[in-house]
Amino acid sequence: MRLTQPFSPGWATLATSLFLTAALPASAENVKITPLGSHDGELCRFDRALILEDPDGTRLLYDAGRTVTGPEDPRLGKIDAVLVSHMHGDHVGDRHIARVNAGECGKPDTSVVSAPNTNSVDIALAKGAKIVTGSEMPRFFAGKLQALGGDPGASQLVRFGGSRMVGGVSITTVPAVHSNGVVGALIGGKLGDMLDTAGLTAYVGPPTGYVLTFSNGLVVYLSGDTGITAEQDSVVRRHYGAKLVVMNIGDTFTTGPKEAAYVVNDLIKPAAVIASHANEAATEDGKVIAGTKTDTFIKASAVPVHLPLSGHTMDFDSEGTCVRGC
Ligand SMILES: [Zn+2]
Repeated sequence: MRLTQPFSPGWATLATSLFLTAALPASAENVKITPLGSHDGELCRFDRALILEDPDGTRLLYDAGRTVTGPEDPRLGKIDAVLVSHMHGDHVGDRHIARVNAGECGKPDTSVVSAPNTNSVDIALAKGAKIVTGSEMPRFFAGKLQALGGDPGASQLVRFGGSRMVGGVSITTVPAVHSNGVVGALIGGKLGDMLDTAGLTAYVGPPTGYVLTFSNGLVVYLSGDTGITAEQDSVVRRHYGAKLVVMNIGDTFTTGPKEAAYVVNDLIKPAAVIASHANEAATEDGKVIAGTKTDTFIKASAVPVHLPLSGHTMDFDSEGTCVRGC
């Protein structure tokens, strides 16, 4: 194909540029979402971590948890901000896998301890990334960063109803109905021991989800660990108009597959959903296993359910439609 026609008449130049516009891949305007799970190409028990990349190149790491092998994980690349929905070990990262594919999908080997610093803080520190959280969590992270020689100012607050820009992405937090205590192991020292002995946790405010508005207009809801909330209707759908939902479906600790499907079908009504936090080996060879919670969720959901297969990047347009990689 000839790309330049210096002596062509005006109409031909116009036709050429129209053709080129139509033929250009839309990827430059899409949001790229890459799951970082414990096992390549699968959705496994502890998988929560996602990298969400704005068309402008801004990269956010959501709930690094236990399936990122620390700051050296080659899958991370540049990270501009680390998001932490709440302080439980499987989200902030009390320990993590030593390498990808260690252990079984249903029982990953997460033997590397990252308490009391947390995997999220270790990654943010090494990457020079911000940590953007709500509630009373920013002071906890600021203290960790300072104790490790980092900049406490890199821990930034965004509470319910407010917003903060990181690159071209507007970030807000939304309520999650769950719990959010910090266990002694993440505090360390005498206070940590005393809390553990008493069976208590430290207060860091309510747990959160996030709503992210990307520079191409795509609005994404990250549920965090939550039950059914009124705000999924009143705030996430009616105010922000989320088009893509990342929904935790694992049951017992959060909404199960049927409750999660109700949130998607009746409260938020997005264009598509990514199942997350299944707390099971949900796939084999990248295909959903029949009879799993993930399978139940897919069948109950009225919109397309995309599986966050580790390492497989999915591209979403501004309307929440997966245009590549799903
Ligand atoms: Zn969890």
